[in-house]
Amino acid sequence: MVLERGEVANSWRRERWDSLRLLTPNWQSRLPGYRYEGADPDGYMTMGEVIDFISRFAVVSGAPVRTHTTVTSVKRTDQGYQVATSQGDFGCRTVMLASGACNAPSVPSLLQVIPPSIQCLTPFDYRNPTHLPEGGVLIVGASATGVQLADEIHRSGRPVTLSVGEHVRLPRIYRDRDVLWWMDASGVWNQRYDAIDDLTRVRGLPSPQLVGLPQRTTLDLNALRAAGVEIVGRFAAVRDGRALFSGGLRNQFTLADLKMNRLLDAFDEWARTHSREAEVGPPERFEPTHVPSSSRLDLDLRDGEIRSIVWATGFRPDYKWLHIPVIDHKGYLRHDGGVVDAPGLYALGLPVLRRRKSSFIYGAEDDARELVDHLAAYLQRKS
Ligand SMILES: Cc1cc2nc3c(=O)[nH]c(=O)nc-3n(C[C@H](O)[C@H](O)[C@H](O)COP(=O)(O)OP(=O)(O)OC[C@H]3O[C@@H](n4cnc5c(N)ncnc54)[C@H](O)[C@@H]3O)c2cc1C
Repeated sequence: MVLERGEVANSWRRERWDSLRLLTPNWQSRLPGYRYEGADPDGYMTMGEVIDFISRFAVVSGAPVRTHTTVTSVKRTDQGYQVATSQGDFGCRTVMLASGACNAPSVPSLLQVIPPSIQCLTPFDYRNPTHLPEGGVLIVGASATGVQLADEIHRSGRPVTLSVGEHVRLPRIYRDRDVLWWMDASGVWNQRYDAIDDLTRVRGLPSPQLVGLPQRTTLDLNALRAAGVEIVGRFAAVRDGRALFSGGLRNQFTLADLKMNRLLDAFDEWARTHSREAEVGPPERFEPTHVPSSSRLDLDLRDGEIRSIVWATGFRPDYKWLHIPVIDHKGYLRHDGGVVDAPGLYALGLPVLRRRKSSFIYGAEDDARELVDHLAAYLQRKS
């Protein structure tokens, strides 16, 4: 039984902004036995297309989905698990937690000290710029969500200030191919979780600065700055009504550029050693991220320059309904490659669950196959 509190593809229907497109190309939209077969494999789906894609999969796969069924509690029993829902209780021997990694925006406690004259939004509240008051917008966070919203809101004519902390810079196209083609072909995306040294850190990395536009544009900080977005450092504190930003932009930029170049080196090395040079363009290197000659270290939040703040500071899962001691002190699930430390309890769709690609649509298939094998063996042992 597949229990869903809303409709199939609920997160894409309810929790995304209007203009969002997948940042993964269409050919990476694939689920077990089912894939994109349209005329634009290198394009990026709109939200409507994603909803159709996943809804069709639910039909084609014949998945026994019960929609509008909210799970309110999962508890262990002698036989397995007791699952309480808005449509009644169920007993089962195994549970696969596929409730998502991004159930709620992750917003720093700074939110509480923002002057009330400023409208605060998270990506879950934001739909399009018309919902924002006129005037300046501070966007906090420069990963995929932050750079996309900075671009869209700036185009709406509002002055945008983007506060930048740790980020992952990537070009959209490298050597004539989508950068996610390189991630896949070179094996980087398939790297297994048990081969990664600092797994906790890698699981917590921000999303890459990518956007899925038909023009296949690179949306990095250089592009935003050239368009007129003001770049400031990490939002560190609010004191006497002033937002204080860290002065470490140069370090953040150097680190992001260094990591991008290391990845591009790895792609080049792979192309050379796998005789793929002829099918891709020549190696490229990109302009280092431009460090503003002087970036503001503080900003008065009371003088009316900033009228709204969008907290693009990431997302987190919600396990309030999971009454089993498998959650760590930060609210994340403890698991080993999706095998949770409770018999017959599994998880899918979390960052680097079994592979680097695990939290993308494209990553579900391989992880699901391995976890289902584990689950089937568990049931067999028990019977
Ligand atoms: C802004 C944003 C952009 C993204 N862009 C991309 C992209 O371009 N490409 C890509 O591959 N991935 C992208 N992702 C990641 C994407 O979310 C995952 O690839 C995919 O949605 C994971 O699917 P899932 O089914 O594991 O989780 P979800 O899509 O989050 O689905 C979880 C489901 O569980 C339901 N649920 C949760 N709690 C309960 C409960 N208590 N009871 C009943 N049902 C419940 C929810 O309603 C939801 O439908 C993006 C994520 C975000 C936040």
